Amino acid sequence: PIVFLLDVLPADTVIDDADLAATITPAGDGSGVLSVFDLGPARGDGIFETIGVVGRHPQSVEAHLDRLTESAVILDLPAPNHAQWRLAIARAVAELPDVDQSAVRLVVTRGSGGRPTAWISATPADGFPERKNGIEVVLLDRGLPSDVQERSPWLLAGAKTLSYAVNMAALREAHRRGADDVLFVSSDGFVLEGPTSTVVVRIGGTFVTPPPSSGILPGTTQLALWAHLEEQGLPHEYRMLTPEDVLDAEAAWLLSSVRLAAPVRGVDGRPLPMDAGLTAQINDALRSRTD
Ligand code: PLP
Repeated sequence: PIVFLLDVLPADTVIDDADLAATITPAGDGSGVLSVFDLGPARGDGIFETIGVVGRHPQSVEAHLDRLTESAVILDLPAPNHAQWRLAIARAVAELPDVDQSAVRLVVTRGSGGRPTAWISATPADGFPERKNGIEVVLLDRGLPSDVQERSPWLLAGAKTLSYAVNMAALREAHRRGADDVLFVSSDGFVLEGPTSTVVVRIGGTFVTPPPSSGILPGTTQLALWAHLEEQGLPHEYRMLTPEDVLDAEAAWLLSSVRLAAPVRGVDGRPLPMDAGLTAQINDALRSRTD
């Protein structure tokens, strides 16, 4: 693994590249650099981003930095300095071995003693056979209403926080039920997102995803797909979806930065059609991003 620690800079600090580089320190393989009193590991109090890298190209960097900023605002953490993170991403990616795909992870925690902690890591990623084979998902009740963001902002819906224990427990529940992944449903009956992904379905030729206002994380991969569909003149919209909508869809995918588009093969054991051609086209478009 490749790891660098960052001295946290205010978002509006403008310094030259050499001084900026001095705020980013190699941290070996990352072992032994974090205090046990850091509120990241101690409470899951922090935020992160995972960026997909194809070859040596990190994808949708600005969208990830914008979302890191949004998460920082929601958690009352200092807004990140984009120039510093861009440089850190470039340095981490430059050290990657020559592989097809990798992942870069940006982390900011509340730290200790009032000082936030920040680091970046980069690791090669495995192949993703599910892009072709599809995934089996189960519907799991998230126990929260679709207006949670407005009603209970302290639950931090819409932020990418380090508190993923619940998301990982949901994945384990899916595995116990013989499935691969999860589609969360709100307590008022709307399909939300996966524990690490955005859901997109195709209904009557239109690509549909739930609106970010429904208490989900706005996906950077979904945003990139929307840009591609816009370019191709293909219809796409944000709309609340029910489980029945998904079961009746022409196709469905779970989208995320590293795995990209994984077609849904079945929901709670009921088969869903997979469109291999369209899936390949979507993944080609997502892999060829140059922004
Ligand atoms: N929703 C949740 C809860 C996630 O954790 C993620 C990514 O990990 C996504 C959606 C998809 O976001 P992105 O496409 O930016 O990876």
